[in-house]
Amino acid sequence: MTKEYQETIFTKIINKEIPANIVYQDELVTAFRDISPQAPTHILIIPNKFIPTVNHVTSEDELALGRLFTVAAKLAKEEGIAEDGYRLVMNCNKNGGQEVFHIHMHLLGGQKLGPLVAK
Ligand code: 5GP
Repeated sequence: MTKEYQETIFTKIINKEIPANIVYQDELVTAFRDISPQAPTHILIIPNKFIPTVNHVTSEDELALGRLFTVAAKLAKEEGIAEDGYRLVMNCNKNGGQEVFHIHMHLLGGQKLGPLVAK
């Protein structure tokens, strides 16, 4: 049976129906600070369109998903982490550790981030 996905709390953040520390928003994407930061900089950058997982991405989403990267680069510069470096992460489903089913790019930086995958 195909799994049904409902819009998440991230839609409410995009629509400003619940509070979040939004650091960037345009017609395609929204970026806000993670509520439970795992590094000194931890920002989530999401498409405004509801896309539950990376498995649901289509070629129609390429403009918005490309924008995730240009916004990540802009925010990394503004956060002062561009030169030292940072990590961009997108989790998919159970094995990826995805908890919120509205795709999001994690922008993590401000410290050495350690191994890519927990042992
Ligand atoms: P995932 O595990 O799905 O890749 O990451 C979900 C992220 O969303 C987590 O890092 C979690 O802390 C963050 N998060 C979940 N709910 C909220 C919320 O209501 N507000 C904000 N700002 N972040 C949230």
